[in-house]
Order: sequence, then C-alpha cells, then structure tokens
Amino acid sequence: MKGISKHFGEGSTRVDALIDIAMTVNAGEVVGLLGPSGSGKSTLLNVIGAIVEPNEGWMQLDSDIVYDNRWLISDLRRLRLDKIGFVFQYHNLLPFLDAVDNVAIVLTLAGWRRKEARERATELLEYLQVGHRKNAVPAELSGGEGQRVAIARALANKPRIILADEPTAALDSERGAIVMDLLRKLAVEQRAAIIVVTHDDKILGRLDKIVHLRDGRIVADLRSSASPPKPIAVEVPAAGS
Ligand code: ADP
Ligand code: MG
Repeated sequence: MKGISKHFGEGSTRVDALIDIAMTVNAGEVVGLLGPSGSGKSTLLNVIGAIVEPNEGWMQLDSDIVYDNRWLISDLRRLRLDKIGFVFQYHNLLPFLDAVDNVAIVLTLAGWRRKEARERATELLEYLQVGHRKNAVPAELSGGEGQRVAIARALANKPRIILADEPTAALDSERGAIVMDLLRKLAVEQRAAIIVVTHDDKILGRLDKIVHLRDGRIVADLRSSASPPKPIAVEVPAAGS
C-alpha cells in the first residue's frame, strides 16, 4: 500500500486515524503492528481487510489493485471470503455452534457443501492441535483452545493475508507464545502474509518486521525483512564501564 489515509468525522471532530501509510508485506512474513492506543492499528487492519474504506491511497493484493482512490473490486465480501482471514482479541466464535461448525461456516458461506466444509474444518482443527475439541461449543473451550479454533476459522479459506488484532491479549504468556508460533508456522507453510497487532513484548522476537504507528503515521520500520528475526535486547551499560 502507498499513500493510504483515513479520517473519521469532519471539522472540529475530525480524527486523522491514518496518514500517508506505505507498507509492503510479503507472503510468508509475520509483521507486527505496534503503537499506543488510538494510534491507528485497528483502522489499518480494517483497511487492509477491506472493512473500512480509506479516503485516499493505493492498495494491491497479489496481482489485483484493490483500491486506487476508490475500491476497484466490486464484490468486497467475496474478496474477504476468498483472500483474507481475521483473528480477533477474543475469539468471536459463534456460541451456539461447536468448533467444527464455527470453522465450517466460513466455507459454507463461500459456497462449499456442508459435508466437505465439515471435513476440511476437522482437518484444520487437527492441524492446529484442537481436533480433540471439535464437538465442544465455545463456552467449553479454554482461552487458548478457543483462539486456535478462531485461527482455524481464519485459515479455512486459505487466505493470502491473515489479520490478527491482539490475538494473544486474552491469553497467558505461555498460551500466547503457542498462538504466535502457530501464526509463524502458518506464514511459512501456507505462504500467507500475517499482520498482527500486539502490545506483547515477549512476542517481538517472533516477528519478521515491526511497523510502529503513532498518531496515524508510521514512525519506524524497526526491522527489515532482510534480517532474520531476533529478539531485541537493549542493554544499558553499567556506570563506569
Ligand atoms: P488503535 O487500534 O491503535 O487503538 P484505532 O485504529 O482504533 O487505534 O483508532 C485510531 C483513531 O481513530 C482513534 O483516535 C479513534 O478514536 C479513531 N476512530 C477509530 N474508529 C473510529 C470510528 N469508527 N469513528 C470515529 N473515530 C474512530
Ligand atoms: Mg485497536
């Protein structure tokens, strides 16, 4: 994307949520989106996911130009169903469906038959190591299990991009690390691009690239995808050394 801007409201109530954002994310990469509350992280994810319309700029997904000062794709719902997977802070599973149907519903919406959709959903749950919980409803799942079912759902349509808004926020650090490791594995094995909003310092070492937002602008690309992921360690030299 280049030159992407988004404001809400007008006049004295105007908020510039995104200002002139340029960013490239490659297949197989996990990019972290960091920044204080209100800096525009969720708005950026929603723009990339074609949920929020920007005011200007340019966006391409694979070989398709999706937005060039206006949407160039008429069926945005189809685009989302075919190419984009969302994972939220809380798993957002449908409470009255079991784990298999929570995943399968994405496929039936995309036109799959129910039987095939449930078979693929079961495979995905097994891939994410929650196959044994496939007939549990969300209330019966632990936080980590629910989040893995939500990731299975985000993956069901083999998306090109997975957008995750604080996916580990509701988990303890060990379960958060498992979820992040799964996202990495998906990026590599499924050749998806993964963009994850996080506040969690402990997962910085699991990111290929970090984009830092402040007041709607990118302030730093702290690490380029050219260098392999490594934890950021800042050592303050002891006085006199
Ligand atoms: P973050 O996810 O980094 O906390 P957001 O993207 O949610 O930030 O919000 C960025 C700015 O845009 C904030 O000032 C927020 O109040 C504003 N904003 C976000 N969504 C809306 C909306 N639908 N209507 C009005 N203002 C919004
Ligand atoms: Mg947010």
